[in-house]
Amino acid sequence: MENIHPDQARSESGRPLTGRFAPTPSGRMHLGNLFAAMLAWASVRSRGGRMILRIEDLDTERCSKRWADLLKQDLDWLGLDWDEEAPPQRERGEAYAAALERLQEQGLIYPCWCTRGLLHAASAPHAEDGHSVYPGFCRDLTAEERAARAGKPASTRLIVPDEVISFIDGVQGPYSENLARDCGDFVVRKADGGWAYQLAVVVDDIASGVSEVARGRDLLSSAPRQIYLYRLLGSEPPAYFHAPLLLGPGGRRLSKRDLSLDMGTLRENFSPEQIVGHLAHLAGLTETPVPLPARELPALFDWSRVPRQDIEVDPAEL
Ligand code: GLU
Repeated sequence: MENIHPDQARSESGRPLTGRFAPTPSGRMHLGNLFAAMLAWASVRSRGGRMILRIEDLDTERCSKRWADLLKQDLDWLGLDWDEEAPPQRERGEAYAAALERLQEQGLIYPCWCTRGLLHAASAPHAEDGHSVYPGFCRDLTAEERAARAGKPASTRLIVPDEVISFIDGVQGPYSENLARDCGDFVVRKADGGWAYQLAVVVDDIASGVSEVARGRDLLSSAPRQIYLYRLLGSEPPAYFHAPLLLGPGGRRLSKRDLSLDMGTLRENFSPEQIVGHLAHLAGLTETPVPLPARELPALFDWSRVPRQDIEVDPAEL
């Protein structure tokens, strides 16, 4: 492993291997964020690849520089390093606008005036995971109907094909979705002018040459939309690895409000080696949760040992 120079490392598709941390600075990292970040890092480093850090601060109200700075300090404290910091999403408006133009040239976007309330009242159909499927109300508006709404804030939606998009996830196995049936035309720019996550993440990963995306399983169902965007923007999608989520007692989702498992509290009570060792054990990489410095993880790393199912953690047992 040691003698692979980053420039020589290749992903399975033959491209240079580049992974990324893409945290949202809307609070202190918790153990679950950390678990996903650690796996993404160990996977790339185990094959001598490059790691990029990108701060995903599209949501300007919830995100702040203070959280972004703490994120970096926490990753650093744990020993998870990166080779390059990509510009934060807040500064990437021009790149997103250029991508939107490419979609427009393909005749695939339209303005949408539907509000959440209206869609709810119309009881839009639901996909299996409970997300509503956009029924396409604004897709077929006539030129006059559009003109009548001009001036009112509109989001921008992307027309999706009635086609099954499939890929093999490195942890979850084969996954497919028919975008028309399971999702519907989706928003690429919000009515307030903000950029949607789906578009931004693809544009940024393309710009950074990301060839491997490892993140939490909660984003698995975003992958087909993202693969579709890669196709429209003329780029090859990355390899995907959707890691299990860490759950709190009773199986509830950890959130940035779970203070007992946030990095502030964890750092007061544990060493980086204890935390990394514990997470490596949860990931199936070690037999027991013995303390482990992050630099020893790449040599132990193997996606086939990482469980597919979410993992319950009891803060009292840390
Ligand atoms: N920024 C997202 C998050 O913090 C991750 C996006 C991604 O990995 O694609 O949940």
